[in-house]
Amino acid sequence: MNKDFENWDDLTKNPELLKHYELLRTLGVWEYHEYLKNRINSYNKLLDVSVEIFNKTSIEELLQFVVTHLLNKVIPSAISFVLFDEASEELGETFVFKNTQLVSTDMSFYNISAVRDFFLKYPNPIQFSLFEYQMKNKDISGQLEALSPDLIVPIIGIGGFHGIIVLSRKILGDDYTREELSYIARLMAFTSVSIQNNIHHRHAITDRKTKIYNHSFFQRRLDEEIARVHRHDTTLALVVLDVDHFKIFNDTHGHFAGDIALESLAKVLKSCVRKEDIPARFGGEEFVVLLVDCSQESAWKAAERIRQSIEEMDMEYKNNILKITVSIGVCFVNKYLKYTAQELIERADKALYKSKKNGRNRTTLYRPGLYFKAHRAKQ
Ligand code: GH3
Ligand code: MG
Ligand code: MG
Repeated sequence: MNKDFENWDDLTKNPELLKHYELLRTLGVWEYHEYLKNRINSYNKLLDVSVEIFNKTSIEELLQFVVTHLLNKVIPSAISFVLFDEASEELGETFVFKNTQLVSTDMSFYNISAVRDFFLKYPNPIQFSLFEYQMKNKDISGQLEALSPDLIVPIIGIGGFHGIIVLSRKILGDDYTREELSYIARLMAFTSVSIQNNIHHRHAITDRKTKIYNHSFFQRRLDEEIARVHRHDTTLALVVLDVDHFKIFNDTHGHFAGDIALESLAKVLKSCVRKEDIPARFGGEEFVVLLVDCSQESAWKAAERIRQSIEEMDMEYKNNILKITVSIGVCFVNKYLKYTAQELIERADKALYKSKKNGRNRTTLYRPGLYFKAHRAKQ
């Protein structure tokens, strides 16, 4: 019986209509109707899931969501995401999930460009056995064996090839059904687009050389954070760093060594601050960190921690240990200090200039003038 039938009441009262109803039932129309309803339901669910997939703002969060969702449908013994780094034409990150747990993120995979070339020709999900047969490259299939592959789904979009999703056999050992394969293919198509969005977004906000945030992302976040300080009773500190005598460093050790120094500096910078802080390359050999919800005292401590860590950093280059130091300026804002983004940068820069003038490899805190103190006292 079909309770959703719009004219159900009319139908039950009208023997003529009831006859047609029975006829349609005999012909299997209602059964087919039920089947179509189920399909619509499942497409609706897939659409809901895809909306969630498109709204994930980090690859880790996205993959975790997809894996958890997929496990409600099928249970592969592992799901792996092998991403391709376009910039270096090498393996980017790998994420291997067992159950819903991320179990590993490092894997060596050579020659991923051969996999890319294969999938650019055949951009569809493929059984591993068939992939192995067509690829005819024992090295590559050997490396993939580590992921117990059964099904490989390429991640391909307008930007080209971004990697592969590898599904292991189902945990009970049975084959994927046709319906499951079709569901997985659709889900992975959405996942691919979202992975690409995330990769593109990450490229757009990352400095290529140092892999920390770039100038434009920093400016955007600075505006947002300043607005937050003005709106709510929060605090913010800006730390600016400039490598000391970097021109001499480049002239002495070469530009390549200079690049390595900037990369190492960025790593140290990242490791010295909290996850919610924003370390960025301001340009050239100048870096900044936005310390959110940070007292003046902790900002000072963080800046000194950064300065000391860089001073202690040893860089091995051509059998030599190279060292750099940085000069730092810090400027702090709270709701009484109505600085604009530009003013905050200028004040932190002033403090940095003082550090340079006073001998470099030191931190200076910008101190607001008497006008501010009088103004605050009045308040
Ligand atoms: P100070 O202590 O006063 O800051 O001296 P400095 O030599 O660091 O300052 P200056 O502004 O004269 O020189 C900055 C140097 O940084 C010059 C430039 O070639 C170098 N530099 C900027 N960006 C890069 C980069 O991406 N890689 C390398 N290797 N060098 C860079
Ligand atoms: Mg400079
Ligand atoms: Mg410098």
